[in-house]
This record gives sequence, structure tokens and C-alpha cells, in this order.
Amino acid sequence: MKRTIIVIGGGAAGMFAAVHAARNGALVTLLEKNEKLGKKIYITGKGRCNLTNNSSPDEMMQAITGRAKFMYSAFSKWNAQDTMRFFEEAGLRLKEERGRRIFPVSDHASDVTKTLEREMNRLGVQIRLHTQALEVITEKQTESNRFCAIKICDLKRGIKETLRADACIVATGGLSYPSTGSTGDGYHFAAATGHRITSLSPALVPFEVKEHWASRLQGLSLKNAGIIFEYQKKIIHREKVGELLFTHFGISGPAVLTASSILSGLLYPNGYPSDFCKLDDPEITNEVLVSIDLKPALSEQDVDKRLIRELEGHHRQNFINAVQSLFPRKLIPVIIELSCIDPMKKADQITSRERKRFGYLIKHLTMHVSCLRGWNEAVITHGGVDIREIRPAAMESKKVEGLFFAGEVLNVDAVTGGFNLQIAWSTGYAAGTAAAIKTEE
Ligand SMILES: Cc1cc2nc3c(=O)[nH]c(=O)nc-3n(C[C@H](O)[C@H](O)[C@H](O)COP(=O)(O)OP(=O)(O)OC[C@H]3O[C@@H](n4cnc5c(N)ncnc54)[C@H](O)[C@@H]3O)c2cc1C
Repeated sequence: MKRTIIVIGGGAAGMFAAVHAARNGALVTLLEKNEKLGKKIYITGKGRCNLTNNSSPDEMMQAITGRAKFMYSAFSKWNAQDTMRFFEEAGLRLKEERGRRIFPVSDHASDVTKTLEREMNRLGVQIRLHTQALEVITEKQTESNRFCAIKICDLKRGIKETLRADACIVATGGLSYPSTGSTGDGYHFAAATGHRITSLSPALVPFEVKEHWASRLQGLSLKNAGIIFEYQKKIIHREKVGELLFTHFGISGPAVLTASSILSGLLYPNGYPSDFCKLDDPEITNEVLVSIDLKPALSEQDVDKRLIRELEGHHRQNFINAVQSLFPRKLIPVIIELSCIDPMKKADQITSRERKRFGYLIKHLTMHVSCLRGWNEAVITHGGVDIREIRPAAMESKKVEGLFFAGEVLNVDAVTGGFNLQIAWSTGYAAGTAAAIKTEE
């Protein structure tokens, strides 16, 4: 008798789990509440889908925020090169870009979903769109619980029914970008069946900052800045040469997104508040600092020498004109204002104290974070189903036999670069294969 498997969620992890369960001989039904599959995949990589990163399993582990060890087994069984081979063999041509990021040659994220959908159709996976899982039903065993059925609702016809199966894979995603269907349903299923959910907070998300001058720099991208992120006077992340983007509310860009993954858990140990919250308490606000070094290749002495050169070379000019060549145009009025030096002062009138203070500002342009932006802008969810209750090789619950978890619903996340989708592929593969062949650990 073929094993019957229900997969909840038609995102990256769910579709991948469905493909691999079907490849291993199971009869698979995939439930997706949206009108189409892979709604989140469509917006990944700015619509181009950075579907993995061509790095080794060890490098993959380093990209994970927090408990990386959990992913060791899943990455060993299904790594980035397996993902690339899978998609190429299924007819999707791939290319490698900066930082070993992998994209479809077509630059269309939709081609990733189409490839997976084609493969599921070829394997006879029953895809039920507009179908929402409402409840995961378990039955009591002597030692543990066992999955037995799932309550669903056909959203188009408003009909509820109960589907029985041998196993269920929960791949419902997290809470980020809820418009794509990730509304946290999987956490409710997990909690209702006795699992612990760790604190949930938005990660890979921009910051709002207190300083009003930051919004005047909106659109300015600093590509080669030294950036230090401090929390409670301790450095939590440093980029010797990183990229940062000013926005109308604060800062974003690769360095900020990476730091947000670390800060998210530190700032919101009890979970992100449901309504949009600012860290209004001045004591808290002062705890998170971002310090930018505008000239990371120069020491403080070298910066001073450079300033002396510029001021001497333009000694008849106003201060604001004398230092023009040092900064991007948009930054000049702001940094001059912050220095409190009269922009109209002649260059040869600048005192050595003023010059040293200006040099310090160049090396330490500091901002205070007032909050992380919310779920609507977070690339991923930090936190999720507690991985201590999950068997890492099979992604099966230790508490409920026959219940598996895959993808963002788990408490695993990584920095940007294709690593989060690789987590979805690797955990989806592990869950799909194990649910179909039901190996015991
Ligand atoms: C803007 C953006 C850009 C990103 N870019 C990249 C990138 O380039 N590279 C990268 O590696 N990662 C990227 N990510 C992260 C990546 O998209 C996620 O890590 C990944 O999609 C998670 O896959 P998942 O299958 O676990 O969850 P999801 O993709 O969220 O899929 C979950 C699915 O389950 C369905 N569902 C939920 N509840 C139910 C229910 N009760 N019944 C039925 N169906 C249900 C949802 O509708 C949804 O379709 C990006 C994320 C965002 C938001």
C-alpha cells in the first residue's frame, strides 16, 4: 500500500517536500490556501529568485543565524549543488552571480515555481488550491501522539472536510510578508499538538533611526563603508567594508539586514509586539547604535592628514567647498551640519580642534536605532517551531509521530544570499523523503 501524505503549504518547502515524497512512491496531496502556488517565491530576489548559494555545506552552516548544528544533517543530504542539479535537470537553466548567488537565467522567479509545479504534475501530486488547513488532528499512542487527519476548508465553496493520511508535512512559512499567505498558521498547528514555539520577530529587516538627518540622505547608498552595530555597548556585528542604504525612515541594505537577524532576537526576546512598536524608552534607544566609518581604508591619522591636504589645497575656499571631493554630494550638507562648523568659514580659518572633530565624525558617523521595521518588510521570521523537538535528519516531530515540519515555520534562519531558500529545499527534501519511506532514527 502506498503511503498517503498531506503537505500543508505550497511555498518552496512544501512543493519540494511534495516532489520528494512523490518521487519516493507516496500518494501526495498538497494544500495551498492561495489561488496559486509559491506567492512568496514570486517576490524573492527582487522578482528574480536567488534560489540558492553555490557554497559548501560548511559555508552554508556559517550563514545560519543561531543554532546551525540542527541543519547539518539536512545540508549533508541535500546541499546547494543538489538544488542546482535538481532545477537544471527539471529544465530550469541557472546562472551564478556575485557572492555565488544562483538565479534562473531567465531572471524570472516565476520560472522556479513553474518548474516545481510541472514536476509535481508529472509525479501525480494532487494540488488543491484555495484550500486552507484548519486543524491537525492527532491520536493518543501509549508513549506519544500520532498524526491521523487534518481538517480543511475549501475556501471557494465554503465546504469543510476531514482528510486522513499516514503523515503530514507542515510547510506553512512564517509571519513575514503576510500578504503572500504566511500568516503563522503552522505555529498554531504546532502549539495545538504540544510543541513549543520560540519567540517570533521580524528579521532581515530595515531599521528606523532616531536621527532626522538620516531621512535627508534617502536614496544614498554607501557601498564601501565600515559599519559597526552595537547593542548595550557590545559589538554584535561588524562589516569592514559593507553596503548601507539610507531610506525615508532610516537605513537598509545588506549590512543592516544581516545585523537585523542578530538584533531581532536580542531586542524582542519575548517576541515582536503585535502592533508596530518603537523603542520609545530613551534608555532602550541608546542601546542600539550604528556607527559608520566613511573612510575605512584610512586610519584616524591618515584621515587627519587628508583633511590637512584638502584644507591647504583649497585654503581660499569656504569649508563646504574645500571638502567636496571627500564625500558623495548628498552627504556633504549633512555632515557639515553635524560637524557644527560654519560651512562658509574659509578653509585656512579652520582650527585644528575643528579639523580633528570633523575627522572623528568621518570615522564615527553614529545613529540610534528606534525600531526594526515590521512583518510587512521582513524577509524572514526569526524564531518558530522549537528545533529541539524535531528530529534533524527527518524533520519529524519527536512528540507526534507522522508529523513533519519544513521551511520557515522552523526556528532556523540565515543571512541573505540564497541561504533561506536552501533551508526550505533541504528541510523540504528531508521531510518529504522521510515521510514517504518512514525511516526510524
Ligand atoms: C521580499 C522577500 C525576498 C526574499 N528573497 C529571497 C531570496 O532571494 N533568496 C532566499 O533564499 N530567500 C529569500 N527570501 C526568503 C524566502 O522567500 C523564504 O525563506 C521561503 O520562501 C520560505 O519558504 P516556505 O515554503 O517555508 O514558506 P512560504 O514561502 O511562506 O510558503 C508557505 C505557504 O503556505 C501557505 N499556507 C500557510 N498557511 C496555510 C494553511 N493553513 N493552509 C494552506 N496553506 C497555507 C501559504 O499561503 C504559503 O504559500 C525572501 C523573502 C521575502 C519576503
